[in-house]
Amino acid sequence: MTTAVKDFVTNTIKRDEIDRYLIGGKDFIDDTLIHAQIAAGARPEKSRVRGIIAKALSIQRLDPEETAALLNVEDEELWEEMTRAAGDIKRKVYDNRIVTFAPLYCSNLCVNNCLYCGFRVDNIHERRRTLTLDEVRKEAEMVCKIGHKRLIMVYGEHPSSGADYIADTIEAVYDVKAPVRNGIAQIRRANINAAPMSVVDLKKLWKAGIGTYQVFQETYHHKRYSEVHPSGVKADYQWRLYALHRALDAGIDDVAIGALFGLYDWRFEVMGMVYHAIDLEDRFGIGPHTISFPRLNPAEGMDLNNKSPYMVSDADFRKLVIVLRLSIPYSGMIITARESAGMRRKIIPLGCTQTDASTRIGIGAYSDAAEEQESDRQQFMLGDTRSLDDVVREFAGMGLITSFCTAGYRCGRTGDKIMKLLKSGVEGKFCKLNAVLTYKEWIDDFASDKTREAAEAIIQKELEQIKADPFYKNKKLLTTFDDYLGRIINGERDLYI
Ligand code: SAM
Ligand code: SF4
Repeated sequence: MTTAVKDFVTNTIKRDEIDRYLIGGKDFIDDTLIHAQIAAGARPEKSRVRGIIAKALSIQRLDPEETAALLNVEDEELWEEMTRAAGDIKRKVYDNRIVTFAPLYCSNLCVNNCLYCGFRVDNIHERRRTLTLDEVRKEAEMVCKIGHKRLIMVYGEHPSSGADYIADTIEAVYDVKAPVRNGIAQIRRANINAAPMSVVDLKKLWKAGIGTYQVFQETYHHKRYSEVHPSGVKADYQWRLYALHRALDAGIDDVAIGALFGLYDWRFEVMGMVYHAIDLEDRFGIGPHTISFPRLNPAEGMDLNNKSPYMVSDADFRKLVIVLRLSIPYSGMIITARESAGMRRKIIPLGCTQTDASTRIGIGAYSDAAEEQESDRQQFMLGDTRSLDDVVREFAGMGLITSFCTAGYRCGRTGDKIMKLLKSGVEGKFCKLNAVLTYKEWIDDFASDKTREAAEAIIQKELEQIKADPFYKNKKLLTTFDDYLGRIINGERDLYI
């Protein structure tokens, strides 16, 4: 380890930026209590479970004891009811929309040693690289040409990819203007998945125009966390646990949580996420904008997935998605290309709102147009590498409209404002119009003939629903919408309500 790296590991954590959030010296995850709550939830009464489902259907976040009861359900009939409720909640809050994005990996140098990750410092097989800003722009241009408007930018934790670098890369991708069929395409929202930072550093990201800030706790269980994060900055559980608290204090008002399923008992992780949402809500009035639930995938030099006693079966994966959908009903839910196409098809109807497509996670892999995945320059191996065009067409076949909308963020509908709008169903009404506008843009700029046919059929259905919905007449939105749609058909771009 060079001196610069050693200094980085020593100096990154600001103890007072953890201590200020602790209560009585403790964080909000009480491992013993969570285990006790899961045990106490065993064999829940049918009537109680139905009451909990009804609460979730009214878009109220569940209490930990209620989540514990759902996690313990064994009755098949109740699981069917919970499955239906999960889909209903998704439609109530987010309608039939699904948002797509592309990950853009900027660096794979990392001072940490997470046992599950190909980027960890001890993996000598990894080809290490931090993209220059020109290379980042090139990657973003390639992603724009596929048709994506949203990125999740991903970084290892290393002095070469600190806050200043991240801020520069955010500004770089917003600069990109890529020529496409009918004009110019741009990245309209850059979300970030990066290591926890200090408030001072987080303010730099906010100034650069960060979208959502995503930090996964990986596992909420303290002891297991220490086992799988043996060294580096990431060895500090609480520095990570309060990463999003600091972000909200720094002015970033869209934050996203997640756990890496397969590291510890999946029921415990679901409870951990509920506690995380509660603490954010209690302190800031803002819950997580999205929830991620990646499962451990094979990675170069990593054999944890053969050894971990906690790998999650497909059947349990389905259950955890349903319980998360019911427990935190207002949050978006992200399923990624870590999962196979078949699995995504089964899980999306349970309440997912976002997914990636045309995904490349090798550093610089969009520009190289690499056909095959390369284990020595990516974090883990993907389960689904289908193109955005194929995925949009599949969604259309499932009755889903792919939304490329980023309007909410650009009109200030973020943070606590979007939370209220989501809970009341009003945000969904604006989103429906913007989904149609951005979908039409995408079809005209990018769709193959086959996809265009399926997608135009979805647009017709959406237009019928919009025309019949009294909400739009009352709000006099229809006139503006019709005008914008006409202008988009004539080649104008980036019109939103
Ligand atoms: N280095 C930053 C950090 O750890 O916070 C950025 C995140 S990392 C590049 C993105 C996420 O990928 C991690 O938070 C972890 O949950 C997930 N991940 C790591 N290894 C994985 C694997 N083998 N399979 C699936 N997901 C993995
Ligand atoms: Fe580094 Fe993040 Fe991978 Fe851990 S998960 S080794 S912190 S890139």
